[in-house]
Amino acid sequence: MIEVRDLTKDYGPRRAINKLNFSISKGDVVGFLGPNGAGKSTTMKIITGFMAPSHGTASVAGFDVFENPLEVKKRIGYLPETPPVYGDMYVRDYLRYVAALKQVPKDKIEKAVDMAVEKTNLKDVQKRLIQHLSKGFKQRVGIAQAIVSDPEVLILDEPTVGLDPKQVAEIRDLIKALKGQHTIILSTHILPEVEATCEKVIIINKGQIVAEDSIHNLATMDKGQSRLHIRLRKGVEDMKAVIGDIQQVVAFNSGTSQREWNIDVKGGEDVVEAISSRLVTKGYGLLELSPSKVDLEDVFLKLTYGKEQGSEV
Ligand code: ADP
Repeated sequence: MIEVRDLTKDYGPRRAINKLNFSISKGDVVGFLGPNGAGKSTTMKIITGFMAPSHGTASVAGFDVFENPLEVKKRIGYLPETPPVYGDMYVRDYLRYVAALKQVPKDKIEKAVDMAVEKTNLKDVQKRLIQHLSKGFKQRVGIAQAIVSDPEVLILDEPTVGLDPKQVAEIRDLIKALKGQHTIILSTHILPEVEATCEKVIIINKGQIVAEDSIHNLATMDKGQSRLHIRLRKGVEDMKAVIGDIQQVVAFNSGTSQREWNIDVKGGEDVVEAISSRLVTKGYGLLELSPSKVDLEDVFLKLTYGKEQGSEV
């Protein structure tokens, strides 16, 4: 549905994104995740046809974003970082206006607005001026304008920034409710946002893609690594001295006490056996050894900031 090839954008001497490549299939809900300044908005602006790339191509439903901008815009609903709403318009009038701009046939506009109002829960405020609405409601109007033409693709750029926790939860529920009806790209720097709403994630850092996978795979498999959780009868002060020489041990960090450790390893049962026999021989009393999930936040921090809590071996 969306194909991005070697997409590059320079702002003067500054390269904002560098040779991005990714594909998004119809119906996918994808989180585009990265720290501030990573290049997310730049990518979204190019895919939606608001800005030209310096090199590379982007296409939506087979139409090149710059060769066929109208065909692309017809298929996309876009919520930019700042909702493009007019404060001095009434909610319903504004949505009618956007529907007309998006070339919804005249006799279908009222129905399209009803649908958008209903999905975004704006019924009670549809006759109010947009400038009198709270930030959360303005954001809903922003989402309503993105869906009013029932587009195949929805692109939402940081949809919960600046909202209070209750509004954040409401917008996340709204996005979840839109799943299945659209292909969705959700750009955000907030990891829980992606965990709450997306099935796949593309992680971007300093203008380059550093990971592209399902949330499940990223959280459970860190490039062939797995994490072992161990609990001991006797605390270990210096884990490096005990198991640091076992080659497949990649990193370790202690849990709530020196009796609990998480050990990241590469490899299979042989390394598990090596660690357990070492701990038993040295008299630490192995009470528990179980695989544990690699925390998605650790993976994200490692990929974007190059750091993880705990000691690297
Ligand atoms: P994100 O959305 O991930 O926060 P952006 O795409 O907004 O990242 O920005 C990527 C990089 O490009 C940043 O270093 C930012 O400072 C720079 N940038 C963004 N827009 C402009 C612009 N209009 N002119 C110059 N530099 C820009």
